[in-house]
Amino acid sequence: MIPVQFDYVAPESLDEALSALQAGGEDAKVLAGGHSLLPLMKLRLAAPSLLVDLRRVPGLRGVERDNGMFRIGAMTCHADVAQAGLGLASAAAATIADPQVRNRGTIGGSLAHGDPASDMPAVALAAEASVIVRGQGEREIVAADLFEDFLTTTLGDEEILTEVRLPALDGYGFGYQKFNRRNEDWAMVAVCALVKKGADGSCEDVRIGLTHMGSTPLRATAAEQALRGRGLDARGIAAAAEQAAEGTEPPADLNASPDYKRHLARVLCRRALEQASQ
Ligand SMILES: Cc1cc2nc3c(=O)[nH]c(=O)nc-3n(C[C@H](O)[C@H](O)[C@H](O)COP(=O)(O)OP(=O)(O)OC[C@H]3O[C@@H](n4cnc5c(N)ncnc54)[C@H](O)[C@@H]3O)c2cc1C
Repeated sequence: MIPVQFDYVAPESLDEALSALQAGGEDAKVLAGGHSLLPLMKLRLAAPSLLVDLRRVPGLRGVERDNGMFRIGAMTCHADVAQAGLGLASAAAATIADPQVRNRGTIGGSLAHGDPASDMPAVALAAEASVIVRGQGEREIVAADLFEDFLTTTLGDEEILTEVRLPALDGYGFGYQKFNRRNEDWAMVAVCALVKKGADGSCEDVRIGLTHMGSTPLRATAAEQALRGRGLDARGIAAAAEQAAEGTEPPADLNASPDYKRHLARVLCRRALEQASQ
């Protein structure tokens, strides 16, 4: 399908991009990799009057380590995140679609889009990452406050996500388990786990993120509580994973019923926790 007509600008600075966005009003949209926005426009599910392309804005790409934190530019593509040695985030980015999508789609675009079926939002939630946003001023939004509803985030219409701050989580093991029908599909359900072992081998801390189990990415808090402070043996992990779907209302879709998704969440949670505890 052909999208409705729109204007296009590719500013050369962040300030120019913000001005263009402001001047374009509520029908103006930021364009990053275009791999979520353009399909929506072609299907006529989105019809922005102006696209403000960030590709020429300097300083929005790359990964730097800074004080126990990775600072990831919003325009860093999934392929670069996959190669950056970021543990869980790199493992998850490597599973996104195919090389073409991974080389165009960006981490900032994925978080700003807020699709609960995308891989990076649940990773950001589990890692307790935050995003830096520029608009009238600058503010930081923690991942737990970013995802509001299906394809809806707390980013303002005239704000640009510039950076993702990802705690380095040194000392944590990680596991990523994604279930899809074909290798490069979106997740039917995915589960990410971060586990820190105490000196006695028990679970000092655990964070579990769920993809495609509701209208936003979720934390499996009941499973986390069941495991924190307990032994990381097979039986303890299996018992905690049984609670992975507690409180979730996954949507039915062409691939899976809600019950099947809950089953997948439990199985994938066990596998992700086993992987993270090795
Ligand atoms: C065939 C195909 C398969 C895919 N499979 C997967 C998959 O398995 N897993 C997965 O996670 N994703 C998948 N994707 C989506 C892909 O990862 C997208 O790249 C990503 O979701 C959006 O990133 P983008 O840079 O392309 O954003 P865009 O499409 O450019 O933008 C998406 C939305 O975010 C807004 N936005 C973008 N950047 C910013 C910013 N810096 N500040 C403020 N707002 C911003 C835009 O205005 C728009 O509303 C797939 C896409 C395709 C086409």
